[in-house]
Amino acid sequence: MKVLTIIGARPQFIKAAAVSRAFKNFEGELSEVLVHTGQHYDANMSEIFFEELSIPHPQYNLGIGGGTHGQNTGRMIEKIEEVLLKEKPDFTLVYGDTDSTLAGAIASSKLHIPLAHVEAGLRSFNRRMPEEINRVLTDHVADLLFAPTQTAVKNLKIEGILENSIQLVGDVMFDASLFYRAQSRRPVLNTGIEKGYALCTIHRAENCDQIEKLKEILEGLASLPSQILLPLHPRTKAKIAEHNLSVALNITLLPPVSYLEMIWLEMNSAVIITDSGGVQKEAFFFKKPCITLRNETEWVELVEIGANILVGHSPAALREAFFNFMNAQFLFPQQELYGDGASAQRIAETIKSCAK
Ligand code: UDP
Repeated sequence: MKVLTIIGARPQFIKAAAVSRAFKNFEGELSEVLVHTGQHYDANMSEIFFEELSIPHPQYNLGIGGGTHGQNTGRMIEKIEEVLLKEKPDFTLVYGDTDSTLAGAIASSKLHIPLAHVEAGLRSFNRRMPEEINRVLTDHVADLLFAPTQTAVKNLKIEGILENSIQLVGDVMFDASLFYRAQSRRPVLNTGIEKGYALCTIHRAENCDQIEKLKEILEGLASLPSQILLPLHPRTKAKIAEHNLSVALNITLLPPVSYLEMIWLEMNSAVIITDSGGVQKEAFFFKKPCITLRNETEWVELVEIGANILVGHSPAALREAFFNFMNAQFLFPQQELYGDGASAQRIAETIKSCAK
């Protein structure tokens, strides 16, 4: 059985690392063709993940990145269709919610090639997010929907998706965090890292494209009594430079770090401040309180149990959340929310069981 996997962006490389390893347990029965769309192309946003996480080398690199959503998605659909026609896979596998996900979903479903979606059913209910459009559309053409949480299953059922196409498998990022944590490593930085730092990431379009919001977030960070390490996404870096935004002395800007470095930074931080989906969950995996720079999250269970506080871009709300978590009375909630670390294995088994 042949599975054609489409990936293109940083979080997809990490998810694919877990699932591709599970596929290897079925060598001889399951083969995988990897297609990299080129959506993320800088070495520290792409290549490093393949090397470090031993992800098989993609057989195809479509080299499509840097355009608008419409340009990227359109060009990807055209190229992915060519690859699908040539490879004739039994299944197409897509991850998450990027333009690469949607392009893979459209190309595959129009060719009647069964489609599997990992991280199905997540919803922010904010249709202004490009990711929300990508998720909703992908879920509605997928044949196998691998949901990470019970909430995701509920969302899919409400939207009328056939129950027998949905499978609650847990979260493949949890699998990855368990597998790689022993290999985590301290990044080589030209700055000291003192214990008790806050780790921050900012890259969502809603925070970077409206410069006032980015400015307020930086002001909020500047007001915290903490050293802040901020590995900077290329999009955010470009916006800070373009608008000449000032970055306070307590904030250390870093280039994007590798996954093994990132999880070291997460494991050794006191608190995590982010607008990333994946980083919110990793904060929980490593038992760190998380402050989310958004007004809503797909990972609602983290907010419900008190491990995550949503603050939008408000400096006052950021400070309040920070002091709430830094209070000695705060106890990190002890729950298991994202499965048992065998999600990728379940996905591989399910796909294999669909062999004709
Ligand atoms: N990540 C990384 N290096 C960084 C920042 C993030 O390896 O400098 C990892 C992080 O640990 C997580 C994933 O990238 O596994 C999250 O990706 P991102 O925040 O880009 O996307 P999102 O999860 O919001 O879709």
